[in-house]
Amino acid sequence: MKSPQISIVAPLYNESETFPLLVERISALMDSSDLSIEVVLVDDGSKDDTAMKIRQLALVDQRYHGVLLSRNHGHQLALTAGLSKARGTEAIFVIDGDLQDPPELLPEFYKLYKEGNDVVYAVRKKRKEGWIKKTGYYLFYRILRSISYVEIPLDSGDFALVSRRVVDVLNKMPEESRYLRGMRSWIGFKQVGFEYERDARAAGESKYSFAQLFKLAYNGIFNFSEFPIKFMSRTGMVSILIALAYFFIVVIKKMFFAHVIEGFTSLLFVIILFSGVQLLALGIIGEYVLRIFFQSKGRPLFIVKEEIVNCEYIN
Ligand code: UDP
Ligand code: MG
Repeated sequence: MKSPQISIVAPLYNESETFPLLVERISALMDSSDLSIEVVLVDDGSKDDTAMKIRQLALVDQRYHGVLLSRNHGHQLALTAGLSKARGTEAIFVIDGDLQDPPELLPEFYKLYKEGNDVVYAVRKKRKEGWIKKTGYYLFYRILRSISYVEIPLDSGDFALVSRRVVDVLNKMPEESRYLRGMRSWIGFKQVGFEYERDARAAGESKYSFAQLFKLAYNGIFNFSEFPIKFMSRTGMVSILIALAYFFIVVIKKMFFAHVIEGFTSLLFVIILFSGVQLLALGIIGEYVLRIFFQSKGRPLFIVKEEIVNCEYIN
């Protein structure tokens, strides 16, 4: 296979259990489609035998393109690796490896792409997940939308069909702390949403730890908004104004009425409150500085250990 029209990219971390079903469903999709499709399976340093399964498949079936990373890099970077290795000339279809994003939707996405949309992103109408996660997601997307300087669609994840030219831009974006769904929106061109019901995972547990979910949410907020820092500087200014006004009131009282009520409690309260505000402000500045720190190292975003294309090792 020289240049496939479409690449399907799926990052996999410890997905041994879902692997057979994933391959079965994607293979069925390819068999029934007129498009020439390659499937880029990225192993994100799995500890189970996912990598072995990818190797075995990619060495016998040339439609499968194996990309094995040197260690666990996290979902966003595994996806980044997959996007950079994808050879699809027309578009790249990004899905999760746990079958929460049905691969069978490709023809419908492709139709919208053919109608002139550079990005067809999936919008989750319904989620089959626990209520804590659902509420968290719901709130997060709404907060992000209200403070972001990029218009990031609500309830849409990385599941999308993205045109070759948009992927080329993504591949050129060197940012280390990646929030791909935001970067995708930032790029622009014509983008359209496609509503679907997000399935439950086919097997196993979520591979996103809470720490990873928080990291992703932080990347969304700190990479796509100036609001937190502006909010802090505004709060600072307002509190200075309040302090000044209070100071003048006390001075005038002292001059004309001669007695001032001494209140340690209120003083203590204000000190504690504003120490908290200051720590928060420092922490927020820290989040931005941290991102500059990591970016300034200029390290590669991911390290590929092995790559199998056309049933052969090329790396
Ligand atoms: N994933 C990955 N690296 C990680 C964590 C997850 O490549 O460090 C993959 C995982 O195998 C799955 C996709 O990213 O294909 C989404 O992860 P998961 O389903 O665990 O996240 P959730 O759907 O629970 O948010
Ligand atoms: Mg999942």
